[in-house]
This record gives sequence, C-alpha cells and structure tokens, in this order.
Amino acid sequence: MAAQKDGCPFEIAAVFTNNPAAKCVEKAKEYGIPCESIDLKDFCAKLGKSINDMEARAQFDQAALELLEKYQADAILLAGYVWATTEAILNRYLVVNVHPGDLSVTKDGHRPYAGADGVASALNDKAPYLRSSAHLANEELDAGPVLMLSEKIPVEYPLADFETDRKKYLRQVNEEGRKLGSRVLLELALGNFAVDAQGKVHHQGRPAPFGLEIENWNENIPLAERRTELLVKPKSVAVIGASSKGGLGQAVVRNLIDDKFPGPVYAVNVKGEDVLGAKGFSSISAIPAEIDLAVITVPSKAVLAVAEECGQKGVKALICITAGFKEVGAEGKANEEKLRSIVNKYNMRAIGPNCMGLINTAADFNATMIDSKIAKGHVALITQSGALGAAILDSAKEMALGFSTIVSLGNQMDMSATDFLPILEADPETRVIIFYLEGIINPVEFCKAASRMKTPILLLKSGKTAFGASAASSHTGSLAGSDSVVQALVDKAGILRMNSVEECCIAAIALSSMPQIEGRRVGLLTNAGGPGILISDALYEAGFEMPSVPEEVQKTLYPQLLPESSVKNPVDVVAAAKPEQYAAAAAAMMDSGAYDALLMCCVPPATVDTGAVAKAVCDGAKAAKNRMPLISTFFGPSISLAGREYMQKAKVPVYEFPEQVVPALKSLLVPKKYPLGEYRRLPTASLIRAKKIVKGAQKGNYLSMTEALNLLDAFKIDALKSAMIKTEAEAAQSALRFPVVAKIDHPEIVHKSDVGGVKIGLADKDELQKTVKEFLGKFKGANGVLVQEMAPKGVELIVGSSRDPELGSTVMVGLGGTWVEIFGDVAFGYPPLSRELVLDMVDRLKCKRLLTGYRGDAGVSMEALTRTLENVGNMLLTLPEIEELDLNPVIYDPKLDAFVAVDVRIKIN
Ligand code: ADP
Ligand code: MG
Repeated sequence: MAAQKDGCPFEIAAVFTNNPAAKCVEKAKEYGIPCESIDLKDFCAKLGKSINDMEARAQFDQAALELLEKYQADAILLAGYVWATTEAILNRYLVVNVHPGDLSVTKDGHRPYAGADGVASALNDKAPYLRSSAHLANEELDAGPVLMLSEKIPVEYPLADFETDRKKYLRQVNEEGRKLGSRVLLELALGNFAVDAQGKVHHQGRPAPFGLEIENWNENIPLAERRTELLVKPKSVAVIGASSKGGLGQAVVRNLIDDKFPGPVYAVNVKGEDVLGAKGFSSISAIPAEIDLAVITVPSKAVLAVAEECGQKGVKALICITAGFKEVGAEGKANEEKLRSIVNKYNMRAIGPNCMGLINTAADFNATMIDSKIAKGHVALITQSGALGAAILDSAKEMALGFSTIVSLGNQMDMSATDFLPILEADPETRVIIFYLEGIINPVEFCKAASRMKTPILLLKSGKTAFGASAASSHTGSLAGSDSVVQALVDKAGILRMNSVEECCIAAIALSSMPQIEGRRVGLLTNAGGPGILISDALYEAGFEMPSVPEEVQKTLYPQLLPESSVKNPVDVVAAAKPEQYAAAAAAMMDSGAYDALLMCCVPPATVDTGAVAKAVCDGAKAAKNRMPLISTFFGPSISLAGREYMQKAKVPVYEFPEQVVPALKSLLVPKKYPLGEYRRLPTASLIRAKKIVKGAQKGNYLSMTEALNLLDAFKIDALKSAMIKTEAEAAQSALRFPVVAKIDHPEIVHKSDVGGVKIGLADKDELQKTVKEFLGKFKGANGVLVQEMAPKGVELIVGSSRDPELGSTVMVGLGGTWVEIFGDVAFGYPPLSRELVLDMVDRLKCKRLLTGYRGDAGVSMEALTRTLENVGNMLLTLPEIEELDLNPVIYDPKLDAFVAVDVRIKIN
C-alpha cells in the first residue's frame, strides 16, 4: 500500500522516531509509509549534551526536519519519545503522537491525565481503568484531539504498594501503546482519519469525538483485514427468516436454488422447517456447519439479536434486506448504529439494511428477492434504489444486456458505493460499472477510488438539490447550481455522467462487448443516404472525425460494389447491396488504417435478409487484420429483427435507432482522468489565523473586507494593495500610489458599484478625501472605505466556488466583471486542482482566446492562474465553512507575474 498524500486533508505521509529499533519502523515499512529515525541519545552524546538540553533538542528537531523534507508530507507520526518541543516542527507538520506512558482517561471530553506522569496521577485519583492513546499534537502539543484509544486496563484498588503498582501499570500502558501505535499507523495510511475545521476527529467519514475506541484488539479489526470477498463469493449461505409460508426469505432461497448456487444453502425460521429443499434450522447457531454469509430477512425488531447471533457463530458477511432503519427516523437510525457496532465487533462486512441484496452471476450466487432471470454478462450494476435497479434489469433484457454483479446498496451502513470499486476492478467478468446514486457518501474518497479505476464507470445521479440560483446572492451562487459540483467531481475522476436509464443502457451495451478507444476517427458503412447523414451530423457534433477512405483502398473496393455505391466516408453500399459487398466494405475500411472504429447502419428494403447482412458484416470484420470496435444499427422494428438478433448473439452492439450509435461510440472513448491534485496544509500559524477569522464570523453573513483580505493572504492568494480607512482624516495619510480607487465596505452592501459605492481613478489625496467623506455620509453603518491601488489593464476573470452540502465545494473560473451573469462563461474543477485540470477548465471557456492573447494583447500566464486556482482550492478544502466565495474580478499583473484579486466576497455558513 502506498502512502497517501494525494488530496485529503490530514493524511499520514511519514513516520519519525528517535529509536531506530522501534516496532513502528517495521510497521511503517509494511504499510509503505516512509520512515526516518535519528537516535536521540547518540545525537545528544555526539554534541556532548544531555538529552534534556533544550538547545540540543532544537538541533535534533532541525536535523529531523531536514531528513523529512524530501517526502513533502502533510502529517507525521512521532513514535517514541516526545521530541517535538520546538515550533519548527509544529509549524511545518500536522503531528500525531503515540508515546510511552501516554494514557487517556477522558472526563467530560478532556484528558485529565496525559503523559508519562499520568499513570501516577490516575492511580492517585482512583481511576477505574487506564488506556493508552494516540493523539494529534496541536499548538499546545499534548492537547490535540484523540485519534485512538487502546483496550482498557482495569485497575484493582486498593493498591498493594504504590510504586510497584505504578511500574506495573506503566508497563501495561506501554504495551498497549505499542499495539496502538501500529494500528493508528494503519488507519492513517488507509486515510481513515480526518479532522474537520473545528478540530473534531472523524473516522471513516463518521464523527468520532473520542477517536476510535478499541474495546478489544480482536474486535473491530481494520476493514482491509476483513473477509470482504465473502460478500460476493461465499461458500455457504444461510437465509434467516425464510419459511415455507412465502415472503422475502423464501424468495431469496428460491433465487439461490434456481441459479444453482454451488454451496450449501440453509433456511432459518422459528419452526426449523426446510424451505424449497434448503435444510431448515430454528436458529443460525443450530446449524452444524460454518456459514460465510447470512441473508437477514426477519422483521426489523429482530434484526439486532439475529446479527449478534451471526457474529457469535462466526459469520463473516451479512446482507440485511430488512428495512425500517435510518430511513424511518430517529429510532431506526439509533438501531442502525447498533447494528453497525455489532458488524464491527465481529469483524463482519455488511450490505444494507433496506436493500434488495446482491448477485454475482459468475459465482451463480443470487441472494436477492428480485423476480427476474438475470443474463450473465459483463455489466456491474450498483444501485441505491432497489426499484430503479429492478427497472434497469427489465430494460436490460430487451437490450440483451448481461450482468456480472448487481448490488442493491440500501442504506450503506457499512459497505458504500466506494467500497465496491476495488472489488469490481479486480473482477475479471466486469467490464463496465453502472452506478445509480442519489447521494455520494464521502465524496473525496469516492473521487479518489474512481480515479484509480481502469474499468469504465457510468453514473446516473439523481437528486439535484434546490440549492442554487434563487437562494444565492453572489455572482458565483447564481452561476453555479450544486449540480456543477457533481459534474466537477465526475469530470475529475473520469466518470461518464449519464442523464437517463436509456443512455446508460446504450453505453453499457457498447462497453460490455467492445474495447475502449483513444482515437476519434470513425468510418461509417451504410446502405442508405438519409440515416448516413443523420449519423454523420451527430458524429460531428460529438467531436468525432470522419476521414475519407484512402484513395488506393477506394480503387480496390469500388469494383467490388454496385456501381451506384459511394466509397468515400460514409461508404454507401446502397439498398440493393448483397451481403458479400457489406463484408468486403467492412474489411476494407477496417484495414485501411484510416479509422479507430467502424459504425454500420442498415435500413433494409423489404427484400433484404438483415440476418445475412449482419453475418456478412461480422465476417468482414473478422477477416480484417485490424481489430477495432464495431457498432451497428438495424433500423425498423420488425423488418430488421433478424439482423439485430444476429448481432446480439455475435456480441456486437446493435441499436434500433440510427442516432443511438453515436452516444454508444462516445462511451468507448477512454475518459481523461486527472491527477488527484495536492492538498497543501497551511503552516500552523497561518492555519490558526485563518480559522480564527472564520470562527469569529456570524453564520450566514459575509466577512468584512478586512477579514476577507486577511483570509486571502493566509492562503497566498494575491490581492491589490489596499488600506482600510475609517475616517476622512486617515485619507490624508494614505501611502498608496495614486491614482487610487475607493470602495464602500458595508455589511449590507453586496454589489458595491450597483449603489454607487465604487469610485475609480481618484487622482490625489484631495479627491480621495472628498470621496471618503461622501461615502461615509451616504452609507451609514459602514465598516469603512477600502482604498485600493489601480489594477493593471487586463481581462477581468471571476474565481469563485460552488458548494454542495454533501459533496463540498468546487472551484469556479470564468469571464468576470460586472457582466458575468450575462455571459455565464464559467468552468468548474473539483479540488484539489492539478495543473492539467486547470488547463482543461480554461479550455472549456469561451473567453480562452482572451487569455492566450488576442489582437496583440500579451495574454496571461497559465502558471499564475494555476497557482491562484490551486490556492483557492486549498482554501475551500481547509475551510468548509465557506459557503460562497467570489473573487470578481481578478486581473493578471504581468509585473508581478500573478493574478491579483480586485474584489472579494466570502460568505460563511
Ligand atoms: P462590486 O463588484 O461590489 O460592484 P468591485 O470592487 O468589483 O465592486 O468593482 C466593480 C468594478 O470596478 C470592477 O469589476 C472593476 O471593473 C472596477 N474596479 C474596481 N476596483 C478597481 C481597481 N482597483 N482598479 C481598476 N478597476 C477597478
Ligand atoms: Mg466585484
């Protein structure tokens, strides 16, 4: 496993220890995390100083910093002695400590006894148990939030002898500390921990106010070490709640048996009766065999007890079909949390609750109650809505679409959409994945996991939120609905966004039987002019090329066809063509070297046997030496049936309508995947400053101009030189370079120039003073007047953000100024941004030519734009409280080689 430092805040990248023989060095190697160490005792001995000498310790820190610099880490784990006593370390890294003798006893959310002396204090205070802890170091070093707590060590009172007992318990705490250190390393390496802007710890996307609490080292083992594969490929299955009376459980047993599941299937019901030939038992514990997976279909009030029994029995995977959890309210939600802790306690993995189950056709495993025969094939369908899944399966039959895996996710209590990505990537049967999602849990992880996939992903996402144009008041808000965030996320990860079930099926058919393509050169073989033109137009619109058949190929092909044929591109063999003429044309086109893919379109006159035409085209393609995707359409519901049926059997994508071949072909294009981008943590001092500004602001309000400018400064986003003036007298002392601009800063004024609150080109102090006086008189309750130097001439851009409550913020860039809404020329990127992504965002803008130099203008530096957008992305990731950000305009200053913000507005939520 590679160390993760690609995007998400607070991920481990390096380990440092003062003891090269420490156990963590070994573990770090195992987890692929870079590790460095310097022996503190040796280091100090060489200097001839004691290890408690602060000057020696500062030098030690410096040496450590130099060693670690090459990893460009965001965070480091300090294992062993707490040596990070200097600000040099804390300013550079997010620091995680696990050190000997450190224990945590939480009282009212605080750790009253931390550090090596904690054991004595805890014993004095009669603490009932001791626990080792791993925590983040913050500016107060040991006071950061706890990431993990070890098993409890119970203390027996009264103590026999204080000193003896102190030593005994210290040894035990240290032993726990060692176990904790390696586990926290693994969790960090997996990117499971995150700390939000309030400094609260989250584990696997869920709030964990006291960190991950370990009750027993054998329970709650990391997900990576659980037997997740048993969910999709169990050797034995029990269906709990299956009886002879009918119902869901019986339906599941029927599917397992009908689909010829090779392993044993057991039915569990009160009577212990057999169900459809599956041996019956009255409880799961009564089954005298090992069970890999249990399907739970009992009423919701019985689920927790059943799950507990499964855990005790050693079941490793659960499919909880039963509904009545999170989706029904507070009580259901609480029960779902209880179910989750049972699943974790017994190291199980679970799908659901409230789902339709899972099918793995290659393993003949159908643990659903779906009443539909599923054809084997290469499409994986992962759906959040059971009903929609069933509808897709129904349309699929019509379109001869076969499936490898089908998962109904339900409430995603344990297994989420993201968790299935690596499973499907490793599945040799799966060639394309369809996701139907209403929401995306942990979008950063989803984006990362999807970016790593080679298997193409189609996403149908519903539930566009109401957030957007009408609710927002800034420019950015009105330009960007939250759907732009979804789009930005899928663009970055190279996911294909589908707008309808039909579009999804069209693409899935193509991707499940044809290879992906890089090139865009398309050959079109047709037997009729009209649809040929329709398809050619659609190809043009979709950005494909249609080069002519090379002349020497035309010369040999033409004599083989009917005289009325045309052999350029489209190659039109005309209606009366014989099958062998289709074959000749298909082979010649494929071997011409001019194409990356071949489309064929047949609109048959009544006399033509479309089956023979289809066979001829396939034979032609087989005879060709060149391999490339072939996509076909046989128009006409009944007269073309034979052609379509032949193609379906031959596994060549075939569509009923000519215009469907273009989206099919488009889905074969290898999508661009962008680098994950690099999240850069601010140096701690700037981070503290930035958070203070945001924390001090009222929810739903705009920051004052001064606060907003300070925030930009913390994230190295340049702004024009300016000064805030509160009185007329201060205007006389302005040290800025004239001419200047005066702008009113007032909590209730959003668009300053709309109310006459911006005056540009003030030539001298007199004019400035006059304007300040006028503004302060006219706008009562103002924060002051911002005096600003004049911006250089240049294209005014807008840089902003769009936020989705669930997916986070995305960076926007486009043509700015006071006319932004009229042109709506903007593009979005999901942060963290990479240079490649920024360049493509600019590519999508109509105003791109203004940026690259237009009519003698020099154009702007793309490096400078990349820097600004990256910094804005980092700011949005670091401060999720930013509801709206609007830098409008920003202008390129060639002298500084940087973009400078002329105006800024930041709304806090
Ligand atoms: P608002 O957007 O609230 O109306 P701005 O500060 O964006 O206020 O100013 C409006 C317009 O005035 C800008 O789009 C820009 O064209 C112009 N402007 C503002 N400040 C300057 C400046 N310092 N130099 C040159 N032009 C400016
Ligand atoms: Mg503005």
